[in-house]
Amino acid sequence: MNCRFYQKEIDSFLEGRSGPAAREQIESHLRECRECREYYRIQLLAEELISEEKQLKVNPFLSARVMSRIKNPESLREKKVPGILKPALVVLSVAAAIFLGIVMGSIPGLSRGSRPVPAELSMMNDALLESVELLAAD
Ligand SMILES: [Zn+2]
Repeated sequence: MNCRFYQKEIDSFLEGRSGPAAREQIESHLRECRECREYYRIQLLAEELISEEKQLKVNPFLSARVMSRIKNPESLREKKVPGILKPALVVLSVAAAIFLGIVMGSIPGLSRGSRPVPAELSMMNDALLESVELLAAD
């Protein structure tokens, strides 16, 4: 069925504006459709948070609670990542890119255009490192 239609219906469903027939349709669709179930869960969560915010004007634990709920892997799917999580994801993907770069660079033959390091060259590097250590010890 048309999920976009159902997702609109879910909005009015949550606001208590839909009739019993629509309710039944939505409920049966939610049982079958994972995507709409996720949408419903997120909308429900948003409603809850809005009503919590209305009740408690200052709540230092709210953001922690929101984060812990959002970290539920079920709600972390695809494009439904909430805005507050984006900076963390950017940091994570940058870290992953750097890590990958290091790993790729450290494996000869994987990094483009590089040949395996000749044995003489690695021995030379060791000698250089040793002499630097000797200088530092003085
Ligand atoms: Zn659906």
